[in-house]
Amino acid sequence: MSSANAQTANDLLIGSHVSMSGKEMMLSSVREALSYHANTFMLYTGAPQNTRRKPVEELRIGEAWQFMRLHHIESFVVHAPYIINLANTVKPETRRLAVDFLAQELDRTQKMGSRLLILHPGAHVGAGPKAGIQSIIDGLNEVLSEPSDVCIALETMSGKGSDIGSSFEQLAAIYDGVRYPDRLRVCFDTCHVHDAGYDIAHDLDGVLEQFDRLIGKDQIAVFHINDSKNERGSAKDRHADIGEGYLGFAPLYALTHHPDFPGIPKILETPWYPDPSNPARTLPPYGREIAWLRTGKKPKGEEII
Ligand code: FE
Ligand code: FE
Ligand code: ZN
Repeated sequence: MSSANAQTANDLLIGSHVSMSGKEMMLSSVREALSYHANTFMLYTGAPQNTRRKPVEELRIGEAWQFMRLHHIESFVVHAPYIINLANTVKPETRRLAVDFLAQELDRTQKMGSRLLILHPGAHVGAGPKAGIQSIIDGLNEVLSEPSDVCIALETMSGKGSDIGSSFEQLAAIYDGVRYPDRLRVCFDTCHVHDAGYDIAHDLDGVLEQFDRLIGKDQIAVFHINDSKNERGSAKDRHADIGEGYLGFAPLYALTHHPDFPGIPKILETPWYPDPSNPARTLPPYGREIAWLRTGKKPKGEEII
């Protein structure tokens, strides 16, 4: 990652997951991000649950970038779909599909003008973490052998099911095994790390120190800032709105403004909440949560139920 020496707190990069759809595609993503007063964002190149994708020519990338520049948005990140499972040694055809699709996602990410593709490392589906980790390493070696400016950010996972990546040791093992570790980064998800058992609510710096010893803090290229609906160590992966879960507002604010991570994007993936005036509808929490995390003030009466 480039040096962040010149950054100050005013350069806080904060945004949320946004959708990309309709005729406007990436242009609509930028519009959505701006509606939240975000200065960065995260998108999926299509539905996260499937591999159907529009050709890049239809994504309106050029117009989106013009629009971004006009509003001083200089970067965004891409999230690979959940169905990519590099760790599946049980079904070789699923894994083959995963490797091929990941290679295409890297290409799409590059063409869309992002340098970072976030990936869930994978689930070993019964074969055990050792076999799963080796399978992830082999898959990454395959896709990363093609030169590209895009890095893959392995996401920290909650420990749900047979997911790999819920301990810093497992992520470090992947780094140790790959041939191109300089093409790897980490996406640090606060809900997942808490659900995996790390006490970021009370000992944020202790957890970051542990991460630093095993992987290196400079490897964190993006944060997912989410509260958690479950207790620490629950291995559940259910995101809560900011300040409404077991993490609470203070540690999430502290991490957002942590002096060790200026210029590293902070992305919200918090759940939409019921519209008080029409409970059948839901509203995105991102506009106000971004404001709360910028200012450190969460006004009374704005609690999400
Ligand atoms: Fe994710
Ligand atoms: Fe996440
Ligand atoms: Zn999650």
